[in-house]
Amino acid sequence: MDVYGLIGNPVGHSLSPPMHEAGYEALDIDARYVTFEPGLDAAARAVDGAAALGVRGLNVTIPFKRDVLDAVDPDPLAERIGAVNTIDFGPVSGTADTTDDRTADGGTAERRPSGYNTDAAGVTRAFTHHGVELAGADALVIGAGGAGRAAAFALADAGATVHVANRTVDRAVALADDVPGATGGGLADMADRVSAADVLVNATSVGMEDPDSTPVPAEALHSDLAVLDAVYTPIETRLLRDAVDRGATAVDGAWMLLFQGIEAFEIWTGEAAPVEAMNAALRAELG
Ligand code: NAP
Repeated sequence: MDVYGLIGNPVGHSLSPPMHEAGYEALDIDARYVTFEPGLDAAARAVDGAAALGVRGLNVTIPFKRDVLDAVDPDPLAERIGAVNTIDFGPVSGTADTTDDRTADGGTAERRPSGYNTDAAGVTRAFTHHGVELAGADALVIGAGGAGRAAAFALADAGATVHVANRTVDRAVALADDVPGATGGGLADMADRVSAADVLVNATSVGMEDPDSTPVPAEALHSDLAVLDAVYTPIETRLLRDAVDRGATAVDGAWMLLFQGIEAFEIWTGEAAPVEAMNAALRAELG
């Protein structure tokens, strides 16, 4: 049996185990997905320990997405984003298919696990699943934290022109400096920015604690806009309700969560993930 898992602190009531295990069941893969809560200073040791135990893959959540960077070999996208949320340990250490890297002195050193950022694919695949064209789109990303970074890189790589708007303007500008062709600023001109956009991502936590709050004035939303709200608790946010009322395409945060998980599943297993089965399990958990 293969073991996959999630490290985070707090890891809480994670939606990932039922989502991934529904995928294993649908494809008849003999595997389990479990959660681990390492101490706050123990992320890198947890990765080493998982490798030693033969864990095949780990997802990584708050607050460890940056901490694990030094414990893995990040792919170029994860390196640019500066965060890893998926670790692939490859073949189990000590088995015949384990490959070693040859060191300069002729010895061997075991390869570090590969690190990926599948939050980025979560954003683009959520949009494309809903028929949204990203190449050539004007994209507005609200928020410059972890989700905002992943969204900004993902949308730029998909061919969109990105503007990052954030409460703390310096963070938006710093993120925009890292993303090809992007600009950054504050929240003051939000209505104009939304009116001009084709694609909008709310990557702030606004809408989570106060379900009536929204980062965007409803009247700026329009029918040529596709809106992804990264918030998934609640699943139906005020922003998404307003988007539907204004004729926009509304994509809830569970789609992003689903597709980051699907991307990780496909990296680990090498098989096309059963999207419908995993989506049904996730939606059942969300109620
Ligand atoms: P984070 O790194 O802590 O960033 C939080 C962002 O929200 C920052 O840009 C922050 O602005 C902004 N913000 C917080 N309160 C605000 C307010 N009252 N008004 C305006 N802006 C505010 O968090 P994160 O990891 O990026 O997560 C952000 C949201 O995305 C959360 O709701 C999280 O659950 C969700 N998320 C969803 C998925 C998914 O798969 N669906 C994945 C990751 C995250 P400042 O920079 O000014 O503080």
